[in-house]
Amino acid sequence: MSAVRPTHWPMSQFPVIDDCLHIGGMPLMQLAARVGQTPFYAYDRRLLDERVALLRNRLPSAIQLHYAVKANPMSAVTQHLANLVDGLDVASLGELSVALDTGMAPAEISFAGPGKRPPELTAAIAAGITINLESAGELETVARLGHGLGRQPRVAVRVNPDFELKASGMKMSGGPKPFGVDAEQVPVLLRRIGQLDLDFRGFHIFSGSQNLRAEALIDAHDRTFELALRLAVDAPAPVRMLNIGGGFGIPYFPGDTPLELEPVAANLDHWLPTVKEQLPEAHVVLELGRYLVGEAGIYVVEVVDRKVSRGHTFLVTNGGLHHHLAASGNFGQVVRKNYPVVVGNRVMGNEREIVSVVGPLCTPLDILADRMELAKADVGDLIVVFQSGAYGLTASPARFLSHPACVEVLV
Ligand SMILES: *Cc1c(COP(=O)(O)O)cnc(C)c1O
Repeated sequence: MSAVRPTHWPMSQFPVIDDCLHIGGMPLMQLAARVGQTPFYAYDRRLLDERVALLRNRLPSAIQLHYAVKANPMSAVTQHLANLVDGLDVASLGELSVALDTGMAPAEISFAGPGKRPPELTAAIAAGITINLESAGELETVARLGHGLGRQPRVAVRVNPDFELKASGMKMSGGPKPFGVDAEQVPVLLRRIGQLDLDFRGFHIFSGSQNLRAEALIDAHDRTFELALRLAVDAPAPVRMLNIGGGFGIPYFPGDTPLELEPVAANLDHWLPTVKEQLPEAHVVLELGRYLVGEAGIYVVEVVDRKVSRGHTFLVTNGGLHHHLAASGNFGQVVRKNYPVVVGNRVMGNEREIVSVVGPLCTPLDILADRMELAKADVGDLIVVFQSGAYGLTASPARFLSHPACVEVLV
């Protein structure tokens, strides 16, 4: 019996007309001409609209949606999403400035992340956004800076839960962590908040990222609500915000299948009456990054050279891991897996071949596709990496080897 090789989930979000990928209603070659250079990232606003609409449609209407800006902080993308979601979550002063520029109400912006420095905290207090406290030390600093500014800081407690999100791409909780205050230390911290001049908003409990399994998210949500209800007993003021994190994944690799939203939504629906009864002033917030933007973006590079080395064909392109670290395999993952990739201007092609798509960097890790079947491509053809709207350009070592900068467009 021959094992069936897993394939990529079909990338049907961008139309293919006359064998050419279209984005923003334009054939890819035309878009490249209008951008003025390769490589580039392109994000599709129609897909952003559709993704938010899908979530609004499936999730209970009482759930508020926040965008985690670090997934893609391009200002046009953040602005577009700010008009569609209920709030923005930032992780630095730079992201805070992008978020405030959108006109989003400061009360709907929150700031999480360990190691926030005094200028960042001061800016957050002056802006009137919510600071998700990551430690007892940060709490004291925030209270002191608020006093100095004559403004009462808005704060929430980021909790490091006593459980983990199972089967998550990246575990962010459980065990010792730099993120959040250990659940068992939260009651003491809440009492301290009550002694200081602070506007307590609620809790932020984020347990992981890139999860494709509904059961794992349901399990995390169950434990998150149980933990929040337990911690709320010691809260110095009514809980007005309960941020249950995100973690919704998207299919990247062969064998990955999309997350099923229905069971996750049904479980949230099941919890909401209990939350309403026990925390009547609380808004439940889901903060999503990757799930909102990841599938709406492509990375586009141009073939600069074709070469055959000992029987293996390489398409050498002008882009690579310096723009798209994740697609290259994050500086060497244990088993490197390919993102979905096509030749954008000849998707099926007349001839097909097995090739590797590489970048110009002098490291064997600079790979965008390893031994993939693609349409036979020539110098000047455009290679497209799908699922590139999140954690792309700003999550890559852009300065590595000092090649020209990549550009981004929202179409
Ligand atoms: C990164 C991050 C997110 C977004 O995670 P995604 O997997 O992109 O949805 C949400 N909340 C916090 C606190 C984060 O650090």
